Amino acid sequence: MKVTDTAGFTDPGRKRRRNEDSFLIDPPLFAVADGMGGAQAGEVASRLAAAAFREFHDADDLDPEKRLAAIIQEANRRIYERAAGDAQVSGMGTTITAALVAGDGLVIGHVGDSRAYRLRGGKFEQLTDDHSLVADLVRSGRITPEEADAHPQRSVITRALGTDSEVDVDTFTVHAESDDLFLICSDGLTTMVDDEEIRDLVTRARDLEQAGKGLVKAANKAGGEDNITVVLFRVAGGPSELEDTMVASGNGRGQDEDLEDTLTGLEAPTIAAPAPPAASVAEREWGPALDEEEPVSRPGPASAGDDRRPP
Ligand code: MN
Repeated sequence: MKVTDTAGFTDPGRKRRRNEDSFLIDPPLFAVADGMGGAQAGEVASRLAAAAFREFHDADDLDPEKRLAAIIQEANRRIYERAAGDAQVSGMGTTITAALVAGDGLVIGHVGDSRAYRLRGGKFEQLTDDHSLVADLVRSGRITPEEADAHPQRSVITRALGTDSEVDVDTFTVHAESDDLFLICSDGLTTMVDDEEIRDLVTRARDLEQAGKGLVKAANKAGGEDNITVVLFRVAGGPSELEDTMVASGNGRGQDEDLEDTLTGLEAPTIAAPAPPAASVAEREWGPALDEEEPVSRPGPASAGDDRRPP
């Protein structure tokens, strides 16, 4: 599969002064991160996460799922260490939903409540499971999906990058077919616009750019209560030109010019982040340890006060 078209937009929405979301469009890799934390901490966290993906092309020969998981663990470690060493960003965290087009599939890596969707023909399907309190309640049958949409605690997530030294990452691969369209978005879209309307807007749009702008507009029209980020891309059959270029050039740098061609008319987001020192990556389960002493918000010390408080 190769990526044939991309578009990405981020918008602060109508209620927030800051935009704590970040996104990355660097085919065949895509990501959305929704940061949390006081002051500027959420922005720092989401940008650190997106920046970790910049080194993707230098990654080793792990299989794609392991590679994506390793990048996310690295992002987690950087955010956690930065938060531990800088009181101004203490307690920051972020979601991450990342996708890598590889072979005949799309590899997804996911933590938190940002989402990935696939539109194939008229069928619009959520690929990721939300790591959120209300999603847990729906899965256990205690509330309905409709009740979840209006639940006062719908912003509470049960996993995030940066809140602990290790993080439990969902990784899986979905089959991709020619003309499949994928959407990665933050909850600022999905809490404002239901899936059916998202599908209709994307289906009716003449291209991905119009689709992306339409989604942001719809979220704002519905209230724009949170930052809104959408990343869209379409794939087509055949070998990946980008992967061919990587093989031919012998390293990941050779494809920058090709990426620029692919991204004509678009700009990848500017991501600036310091590179923390290297350390080992560890794995263990990061449980949904909601801190009972924290106000109703994102879990643990990352609770972000105003920015994550339910209405
Ligand atoms: Mn959000």
